[in-house]
Amino acid sequence: MKVTEHIKQANGKTLFSFEIIPPQKGSSIKELYNKIDPLMEFKPPFIDVTTSREQHVYIEKNGLLDRKITRMRPGTVGICASIKHKYHVDTVPHVLCGGFTKEETEYLLVDCHYLGIENVMALRGDAMSHQKYFQPSQGGHSYASQLVGQIQNLNKGKYLHEVIDAGDKSDFCIGVAGYPEKHIEAPSLKSDLKRLKEKVDAGADYVVTQMFFDKKKFFEFVTAAKQAGINVPIIPGIKPIATKKHLQLLPQVFKIDLPEALIEAVESCKDNKAVRQVGVEWCIAQSKELLAAGVPVLHYYSMGKSDNIKAIASELF
Ligand code: FAD
Repeated sequence: MKVTEHIKQANGKTLFSFEIIPPQKGSSIKELYNKIDPLMEFKPPFIDVTTSREQHVYIEKNGLLDRKITRMRPGTVGICASIKHKYHVDTVPHVLCGGFTKEETEYLLVDCHYLGIENVMALRGDAMSHQKYFQPSQGGHSYASQLVGQIQNLNKGKYLHEVIDAGDKSDFCIGVAGYPEKHIEAPSLKSDLKRLKEKVDAGADYVVTQMFFDKKKFFEFVTAAKQAGINVPIIPGIKPIATKKHLQLLPQVFKIDLPEALIEAVESCKDNKAVRQVGVEWCIAQSKELLAAGVPVLHYYSMGKSDNIKAIASELF
């Protein structure tokens, strides 16, 4: 079922969902199931599975280091199909512009359709670690709005090189990313919202936000998005802080601010066990206010861990 249908069916009740990261290649999918299992009691109607960008790896060959580009966490679509089969929940594979040609994207979408996957999250992807700016693949998309356009075309039977109407069209529900603190490359929040509106106009059905730690920023973003004419559901993305290192890492990777009160609480912790508790409590408080405001879904970023998400969900669902 589509994410938007789940939201409609919930009739105003806030849903619980989460995002997982595929395991490193060579690792068993059972590791992933061990993280998903404890969260199933909260009945997520859908689970997101990220797609990783390729990165440089160094392989020793004849005593020399050979540089190769590879994807360390492949398997997104396969994992989505496995989760759907094992847990009977809908899955949302993340589909990237970066690293894919339009043809490869078309094949991936055809696979998703045949596997009964009805939702996709359309994203541009970040620059690779050795690049200063995002560079599209040759024959790939530059912006997520173009990817949304391709998915919508496919929904109408318009493949890249031909129109086929043989009675079996996909009907993907499309999610896109939104940034309460603006995307790092956007010159202003207003201009970023204009770009978000372009994604919705191209056919996006819902928005999931980047993580934020100050709920005020989310509420202001929702108001500004509505003023900009964005009328699709906006789902808050939430991440519990879990280690002292997150104080530097999260702003650096996700280009977000942390509230002073949270920074002070984390800095005063004597170890990461205490930080984890602070993170869980902060998230519970944040989630309660979002619940009270009637957000459609509370969507948690697990980033490879589920014990803290379980602790939060136990208080709320
Ligand atoms: P876009 O919507 O294409 O925007 C990128 C930038 O370009 C923005 O600054 C925007 O304002 C600007 N822009 C857009 N259109 C135009 C235009 N026509 N002209 C000029 N500027 C324009 N990354 C992964 O690698 N894998 C994942 O699985 C993944 N999942 C994510 C899930 C969520 C919920 C979020 C919020 C992010 C996720 N990301 C993921 C990160 C995402 O790929 C990066 O944030 C990326 O830098 C931007 O992606 P986007 O889809 O928002 O890009």
